[in-house]
Amino acid sequence: MRNLPIHTGRHFLQIPGPTNVPERVLHAIAFATIDHRGPEFSELGKEVVAGMRRVFQTDGTVVVYPSSGTGAWEAALVNTLSPGDRVVMFETGHFATLWRQMAARLGLDIEFVAGDWRHGVDPAQVEEKLAADREHRVKAVCVVHNETSTGVTSRIPDIRAAIDRARHPALYMVDTISSLASLDYRHDEWRVDVTVAGSQKGLMLPPGLGFNAVSDKAMAAAKTAKLARSYWDWQAMAETGQTGFFPYTPSTNLLFGLREALKMLLDEEGLPAVFRRHDRHAEATRRAVAAWGLDVLCADPREYSSSLTAVVMPEGHDADRVRQIILDGFDLSLGTGLGKLRGKVFRIGHLGHFNDLMLCGTLCGVEMGLHRAGIPHRAGGVAAALEFLGAGSAAA
Ligand SMILES: *Cc1c(COP(=O)(O)O)cnc(C)c1O
Repeated sequence: MRNLPIHTGRHFLQIPGPTNVPERVLHAIAFATIDHRGPEFSELGKEVVAGMRRVFQTDGTVVVYPSSGTGAWEAALVNTLSPGDRVVMFETGHFATLWRQMAARLGLDIEFVAGDWRHGVDPAQVEEKLAADREHRVKAVCVVHNETSTGVTSRIPDIRAAIDRARHPALYMVDTISSLASLDYRHDEWRVDVTVAGSQKGLMLPPGLGFNAVSDKAMAAAKTAKLARSYWDWQAMAETGQTGFFPYTPSTNLLFGLREALKMLLDEEGLPAVFRRHDRHAEATRRAVAAWGLDVLCADPREYSSSLTAVVMPEGHDADRVRQIILDGFDLSLGTGLGKLRGKVFRIGHLGHFNDLMLCGTLCGVEMGLHRAGIPHRAGGVAAALEFLGAGSAAA
């Protein structure tokens, strides 16, 4: 085993999930577990489902699983589709590739539209694919809203409009695991059929909860969908919003934490302010990257992610070596390059429980690390971010 360096003070966890968990959420989790069939639990169950409806911006069904986000991906597919059903997916990056792999293993027939990992889903391409499918063989279109491997955010309402222009009845499924409660997202208004989410990113909780928001159309599809399912079945879970109860033992203590996190997001800061905060920290981060003379991976400014920024290393320089130097020297964890981006990028997570000074500390760690690692860059990235942040709320 490597001898771990001794660190003092707080660790900086700036990977794009799991994110920093607020102390008060940790305290809320540290209560005695209660009877999940008792009256007190019923109130908790109803309250968190009602809160999650506000986060998804939906009046419809919300299902909560004791699972990681991957489980919620599987739930979306197995509840709505049948073996051999055709599904269109888009190669936006590593997570889209993993979701596709899962869909293929489940026996679905995937059309995987190739991508360069620097762009989001092109709405024109969606329209073209669906318009060509006159027999309506395509049963679902699946999109990752915020590609956590690349820092690229696809334009969900524009893709909805493209599906509508093609007059296609396919279900629209969206992975919001690293965007929900960080970026504006509207399940009902954008007429998404299944939204997939997890607890450990924008919701500021530890890993362990998976979510589906489900439209009436998706609920209707579940009645005839033939993929095998049992644990993930929506029917038994859909009652929770009314009864507060779950068909099997829920993650009671994580739900205590969720209740506290929802209070912070919805009642105290408010979602519009949460979204503005993420936009502002992302802008400050990009200004730092630009001042260093480095590139962000995302190629289209309309698709810049507000929850993370992937920084491209100059040719011949290993991003993981820089990350290691930063971790050893400054106790700051950054996201690694995933899949084909291994060694080529590192990712700065600026989502969840976060503020200006945490961002400043993070960018200081990166700038010192670039220097120590001998990465060709200009000084002044931190100064550029400070200038932007210091200009105050007028800049938000
Ligand atoms: C983190 C993440 C996942 C995977 O979620 P797990 O909780 O690790 O199963 C899937 N999609 C996206 C976009 C993610 O950011």
